[in-house]
Amino acid sequence: MFKILFLISFVFNIGHAQSDYNKKRDVMISNQLVARGIKDPATLIAMRKVPREQFVPENMKQYAYQDNPLHIGSGQTISQPYIVAFMTQILQLESRDKVLEIGTGSGYQAAVLAEIVKTVYTIEIVEELGVSAKKTLKELGYDNVTVRIGDGYNGWKEHEPFDAIIVTAGIETIPQPLLDQLVDGGRMIIPVGPSNRRNLVLVTKKNGKIKMKKVLPVRFVPFVRDKKGDQE
Ligand code: SAH
Repeated sequence: MFKILFLISFVFNIGHAQSDYNKKRDVMISNQLVARGIKDPATLIAMRKVPREQFVPENMKQYAYQDNPLHIGSGQTISQPYIVAFMTQILQLESRDKVLEIGTGSGYQAAVLAEIVKTVYTIEIVEELGVSAKKTLKELGYDNVTVRIGDGYNGWKEHEPFDAIIVTAGIETIPQPLLDQLVDGGRMIIPVGPSNRRNLVLVTKKNGKIKMKKVLPVRFVPFVRDKKGDQE
């Protein structure tokens, strides 16, 4: 009898915690995204679907829907929900697209992209983070995401060209290999500039010509280079 009662209360508690996260996610969507001008339906649907709490360490879950970035270990952060949505929306993604992300981190941004597009390739330089993101994405069933450990500076030649590229670490200048691996008609969003004055830059390629536009001042963790070169 006690066992059954325990089981019922256990199931109820889990259900309760889940609906709590769903509620927090709804509030985040309206207060942090819609209120600030995010209106692309695909982006909003994806942000409503991906359980952000699953991408942060256990002790950070309660803060998962706060209006700020969060520490995810190895000195790295998961971006603020608004920044994830902003970068996703501006890429004007289509369901058939193939996207490259540099800076997998927790895997959250990759999951949001994976809800919208056909395939996501993502590269993370910190092994521990890459391994953990791979596991989370697999557990949540995102089998259209491929994670690779290594320095993303040179992109991912085997899978080029990409319809869209998203870089989630700040860098002084845009890596030429990423420009080369963007399809004609493709879009890239990347935080560029000196560390204290970075802007998200939207890059578009049309008829072989590259256009760049600063769209939002931001702070991002730095893009680092692997002195040994790419590992895989
Ligand atoms: N998109 C992530 C946020 C990542 S923070 C998320 O949704 O959680 C930026 C990440 O870029 C960090 O994990 C950092 O380790 C990684 N990074 C920095 N330089 C890199 C490089 N050269 N290649 C690949 N990843 C890099």
